[in-house]
Amino acid sequence: MERTAVHVSRDEMERQERLISEIRDLPQRPESYHVVTYGCQMNAHDSEKIAGMLEQMGMHPAPTREDADFVIFNTCCVRENAERRALGNVTWLKEVRKTHPHMVIAVCGCMIQEPGMAEKILKQYKFIDLAFGTANLHQFPELLLNTLNRRDGLVQVTDEDVIAEGLPIRRLRQDAAYLTIMYGCDNFCSFCIVPYVRGRERSREVSDILREAEGLMQSGVQEIMLLGQNVNSYGKGLADPVSFAELLRRLDEMGIPRIRFMTSHPKDLSDELIDVMAGSQHILPQFHLPVQSGNDEILKRMNRHYTREQYLDRVRKLRSAVPGIGLSTDIIVSFPGETEEQFRDTLSLVEEVRYDSAFTFIYSPRTGTRAAAMEGQVPEAVSKERIQRLIALQESLQQDTLRRFVGTEEEVLIEGLSRRSGQAISGKGRHAVSVTMPGSDADIGKIVRCRITEVKNNTLMAERLDEA
Ligand code: SF4
Repeated sequence: MERTAVHVSRDEMERQERLISEIRDLPQRPESYHVVTYGCQMNAHDSEKIAGMLEQMGMHPAPTREDADFVIFNTCCVRENAERRALGNVTWLKEVRKTHPHMVIAVCGCMIQEPGMAEKILKQYKFIDLAFGTANLHQFPELLLNTLNRRDGLVQVTDEDVIAEGLPIRRLRQDAAYLTIMYGCDNFCSFCIVPYVRGRERSREVSDILREAEGLMQSGVQEIMLLGQNVNSYGKGLADPVSFAELLRRLDEMGIPRIRFMTSHPKDLSDELIDVMAGSQHILPQFHLPVQSGNDEILKRMNRHYTREQYLDRVRKLRSAVPGIGLSTDIIVSFPGETEEQFRDTLSLVEEVRYDSAFTFIYSPRTGTRAAAMEGQVPEAVSKERIQRLIALQESLQQDTLRRFVGTEEEVLIEGLSRRSGQAISGKGRHAVSVTMPGSDADIGKIVRCRITEVKNNTLMAERLDEA
């Protein structure tokens, strides 16, 4: 069924802004807040928007959830254990509230958008004061105001494909920022629940994206991460369609020091995009390209719309156009019906590509997806054994793959002090690989030039040259 994006009007956004002021003036409003985030970068960025609204309401961040007057869980439902963990933690907070009776508990995000979850919360989790779905984020001020006035449990879920511009954002980092370019997904991979909970694919207007990027650049942001479930298909459905490659070209021309993007679907990775990357100044030489499986039959049943050979062709093209490009991937083991032989095709693909990093998962059935109803669910013991073999292979190859950086110069955006040593700093190089070098917290947020000296535990160790 054809669905169109609903653009929230400026009038409505201004009304929500007025409600933010109303909450700020409420005598019984919470003084402090804590946001607990599960899942991907999209969720992390939504949490930044929630924090932005809460701070405009006059609340300040509390160091822990136990200390906060208002606690909100921004949930994920991509894997069953993420969902279980979130519900467990929310339930635990019910106990904490016995000694903190004014605490307001809210739950939002993908989990709430799952079919049947709103009803479940109303029946089984009555202590939750407010629950709302991903499409209701812009209505948060109104929902919170109603909750504070009534305190009798409010659940709001909308099944619309919403685009809301202009929400306040409290960014976690000053040097690097997320910038959403599109929402939702139309691909319906058979294992994935995202299209059901994040809605159909819709792109933000180019002008809104460029304006936000300009503002970030003016405020001193060094690196922008463009976000979308499938950024490669950006622009479809816009009144004046623009390809993702063209959007990147325009962002590259602005002069933002570093541009990354995530996530990409191999079937939509165009030659145009590869050419733009090859000729760009600021798009970093790194590509996250989820393969999911190395076997054609499994890829077909996953509804991925590419074959192993087509995927490898994209990898070859990327590597010849952008020499040394960093590649990372997502892999699912034990998709329903996966045989030992089919699993070995995944191992051989990993051996052939040689990724800089790989996020590996055991298949997790999600109710409502096509794969959940498929025959041949793989026993847990087999799945565990397979994922251990995959991780061991990736780790052994990674050490070797990363050696190509030894002796080269890198520019690293410093994220913080190294966890291993207080005398060292770490961050991501241009290829998105972690680099550790001597330094202090005065370097955090800066781009530091260095020379890679060795590979240790899949991290690059470096000596400093100077600041870029
Ligand atoms: S491309 Fe597939 S895996 Fe990625 S969000 Fe869409 S449906 Fe899920």
